[in-house]
Amino acid sequence: MTKPTLNQIAADPSCMDDYDPNAMSVAQARQFIKQFLSPVIETETLPVMQSLGRVLATDIVSPSNVPNHNNSAMDGFAFKYSDHIKTLKVIGTAFAGKAFAGNVGAGECVKIMTGAVIPKGADTVVMQERIAIKSDRITLLEDPKLGANVRLAGEDLKLGQTVLAKGHIMHPAGLGLIASLGIGEVSVYRPLKVAFFSTGDELISVGKPLETGQIYDSNRYTLFGMLTRLGAAISDLGVVPDKPDLLEVTLLKAASENDVVITSGGVSVGEADFMKALLAKHGQVLFWKINMKPGRPLAYGKVGASHYFGLPGNPVSAMVTFYQFVREALLTLQGTTPKPLPIFKVECTEAIKKATGRMEFQRGVLFDDVGVWKVKPMPNQGSGVLSSMSAANCFIVLDETVGNCTAGEMVNVQILEGII
Ligand code: AMP
Ligand code: MG
Repeated sequence: MTKPTLNQIAADPSCMDDYDPNAMSVAQARQFIKQFLSPVIETETLPVMQSLGRVLATDIVSPSNVPNHNNSAMDGFAFKYSDHIKTLKVIGTAFAGKAFAGNVGAGECVKIMTGAVIPKGADTVVMQERIAIKSDRITLLEDPKLGANVRLAGEDLKLGQTVLAKGHIMHPAGLGLIASLGIGEVSVYRPLKVAFFSTGDELISVGKPLETGQIYDSNRYTLFGMLTRLGAAISDLGVVPDKPDLLEVTLLKAASENDVVITSGGVSVGEADFMKALLAKHGQVLFWKINMKPGRPLAYGKVGASHYFGLPGNPVSAMVTFYQFVREALLTLQGTTPKPLPIFKVECTEAIKKATGRMEFQRGVLFDDVGVWKVKPMPNQGSGVLSSMSAANCFIVLDETVGNCTAGEMVNVQILEGII
């Protein structure tokens, strides 16, 4: 049977077996979104330093061996290994960047600096601390091993080797690696164009005074931060009140000019259903109740050629759903294959109340307890309490099967900040 299209599922959810928009697991929702993602194909060529955070559009193949020559890993003396010669005549010096031109014969050696090319005839280096020297002769104080302290040509990278594959995200080490090959420019995919706006009559933008019942819009700020970290080319379309005509104009303009549109608020069940009606009119959008906390309502689909994500309005929920669904989808759209974020177990210092049957992403603080890393949950886990998200450095990831946890139990955590 051919797979139903997004359009068919949006129009009639019952066309799919095992699909219940009111009871989606986190894993199912991720899988669902994945099948509709088509990565960008346009590329651009950038100087290596400017490619930080971007996705490689071609393999990087090594045009040479790195290092190019056998060279010394130590300051010492280079000689031809022999079982029985223990005293050697010093016939010259090899510097890094200035090789010794001659040949090293039996019973001879060359003083050599770290990084200098191993001279012809030599195959082993003895550290300068392991010899005794008297005028132009050295005596080996211990038996070196054949090939000791020699870095071999190509031991880092070999000529013709694929050093970084298409789809690799450029990190600091990658920049250095490419430079070590003498390559100055790389081909990367163009940045994703992502537009976002907040919906809600109660929302006010920073800079205006609040009246009773109004709140400042914070979701656009967290979205700005998360999207910028992902390297997206962003358009901030501001706050749009719950007015169908304004929402419609903004949505259509955003979708026609961007690869992705993200909105927050207005996708909960029982809301003034403007977004829902608009999305049904102009796109193919699925509305889910996800078995997770926080962040139950989530909408995903397409409006024209643009991907659409409707995040919950609650500030913590918006961030959690972004990290758990949108981040991975955007990475895929950028041309890379996202790897699951590392999850590891640590002891939780406090009891946690939790019902089985849904996945929870609680906010916690990982801390060093005299050499052992432990996690303490934030005291207020409310989905509107952004201060808990800001003070946290990890999610405590409790899957569907986990119930109440006692203090001292091991729990899964996911770090919020990457090293690179
Ligand atoms: P909604 O998903 O529109 O029902 O919103 C859920 C809750 O999140 C409500 O309390 C909203 O006031 C709040 N909220 C919605 N959007 C934002 C936003 N952009 N910034 C801060 N709070 C918001
Ligand atoms: Mg709202």
